[in-house]
Amino acid sequence: MTLRSRLLIAQLPLALALGLVGVLAVSTLRELGEGGQRILQDNYRSVLAAQRMKDALERIDSGALFVAIGERKQGYEQIAQQQPLFERELDVQQSNVTEPGEAEATGELRSHWEAYLEALERYLPLEGQETLRARYLTDLAPRFHATRNAADAVLALNQDAMVAKSEELRRTSKRINMLTITGVLAALLAGLTASAALTRRALHPMAVLSQAVRRLGQGDLEARAQVAATGEIGQLAADFNAMAERLRVYRESSLGELLQAQSSSQAAIDSLPDPVVVFSAEGGVLNVNRAAEQRLGVSVEQVDASLAHVGPELREVLERVRAHVLSGKGPYIPRGYEEAVRVESGEGPLFFLPRGTPVYAETSGIVGATVLLQDVTRLKRFDELKNDLVATVAHEFRTPLTSLRMAIHLCVEEVVGPLTTKQADLLNAAREDCERLQKIVDDLLDLSRIQSGQLELHVRAVSPDELVEEAVAPYRGTAQERQVDLVTFLSPDMDRVEVDPERISVVLGNLVANAVRHSPEGGRVEVALAKGDGAVRFEVSDNGPGIPHEHQARIFDRFYRVPGVDGGAAGLGLSIARDIVRAHGGDIGVMSEEGKGSRFWFTVPERRGLVTA
Ligand code: ADP
Repeated sequence: MTLRSRLLIAQLPLALALGLVGVLAVSTLRELGEGGQRILQDNYRSVLAAQRMKDALERIDSGALFVAIGERKQGYEQIAQQQPLFERELDVQQSNVTEPGEAEATGELRSHWEAYLEALERYLPLEGQETLRARYLTDLAPRFHATRNAADAVLALNQDAMVAKSEELRRTSKRINMLTITGVLAALLAGLTASAALTRRALHPMAVLSQAVRRLGQGDLEARAQVAATGEIGQLAADFNAMAERLRVYRESSLGELLQAQSSSQAAIDSLPDPVVVFSAEGGVLNVNRAAEQRLGVSVEQVDASLAHVGPELREVLERVRAHVLSGKGPYIPRGYEEAVRVESGEGPLFFLPRGTPVYAETSGIVGATVLLQDVTRLKRFDELKNDLVATVAHEFRTPLTSLRMAIHLCVEEVVGPLTTKQADLLNAAREDCERLQKIVDDLLDLSRIQSGQLELHVRAVSPDELVEEAVAPYRGTAQERQVDLVTFLSPDMDRVEVDPERISVVLGNLVANAVRHSPEGGRVEVALAKGDGAVRFEVSDNGPGIPHEHQARIFDRFYRVPGVDGGAAGLGLSIARDIVRAHGGDIGVMSEEGKGSRFWFTVPERRGLVTA
């Protein structure tokens, strides 16, 4: 049944009660009306007739008196006029006998009237005033009184009946009033009770449904609407139950997946040998892996999951990386092993290299940061070992290399005797290789100095033009030999920069040497200066073969050389250049297109607090 029909049915008792009240009111009114009507019909007419008969009788009597005083004509006229009136009213009364004793009273009135008429007939023919007066007093007057009394009796009888009936009517109306009020109240009460009960019954499924909706809203996914109703509410309840079921299934599956994902991600970070700390967007510790618990003493089970128990060196680095990542600067990638933090432990010093990664949410951006402290103790030791080895080897190479170069130089210059062409060619090739070897040795020594923290900058204010000229000069000869046009674009008005000129010359020299070496015969190398954003920018461009895109980011790494490219040294030049530029607080990079050439650039701040490597 539809909700509308249910509600309509629920209103039926009230409507019935109203109908009943209406019927009761109509019948009460009719009964009261009929009571009034009865009084009017039964008694009022008789009262009127008795009154009129009395009037007519008085007039007839005064007519008789007129005759007695000699006004015979007027007396006759009056009697002739009033007599039919009396008789007509007497007939009316006779036909309207309604009360007990009224028939007898009416009969008596008629007999007195007839006796009066007879006496009147005897009276009227008499002559002589005295005779008439005497007869009037003896014969007519007593009969007149008797007739009038009889009419009075009829009158009184009907008036009494009227009073009694109206009293009866008043009582009846009072009773009916009481009955009506009681009936109305009872009907209304019954109607209201029944309507309320039916409405409650009709709306009961709605209440059940709304309770189920509320429970579901509060998170109780087991909430269902147990509704037996059909129609719209039944359909609504069925739809609701289906929705709740789907929600429960979805929640179960997503919760399961979530738990699984959580435990597998926990297992994944636990499997890492290095400490991992996950920070919230507010900076609190959200999660740690087993290695972090063991090595750093941080635990998320602690009430204050914070870095309070972590040693000062690691805490400082964790906080720095966390701040870097949470400030939106992107992931934190260490520049090299030199950034590793040294921590003393029972088994000797340990080295940790920090890495930070932002945790993103789809909608709200960064919601946390993951910091991994990579244990690079062994690598660091290898690195140190390698540096020592490289430094030692380079150092040991230097002296024999110098004498070797000297010997070759003396031979080539024919100081020790003339050479055949073949011998000269061979010695020239040996000299070239010696020069390369010398560059490698120099680079290795530079590198080992930088790595052991010995890159001390001797800063002074220099004009950028001067720097360019001094750095380019040693390569003019080589450029000429290779028929490469080496052009410098100077800016005489440019302010001096505060740099270590020796070191910047190394950087510029490396870039120019590379550019000249990679330029084809007849090529062109340009060295230019530019100013902007509080820094001076040096640019070295060539129209050589260019550098394939995939190698561009790596050519600044140590010992990296583009595969398949001949010549050059140990792949250290650009890495040394980068270390020097960064030590100055600047930056270095390359723009290159294969087949078109390369443009290397680096910047140094115009004036700044210098960074020591
Ligand atoms: P090397 O001293 O061995 O040349 P670098 O660090 O100076 O090492 O350079 C690294 C690599 O970058 C080189 O092997 C070379 O292939 C490439 N490279 C450097 N400069 C240029 C250039 N101007 N044009 C093309 N390739 C270059």
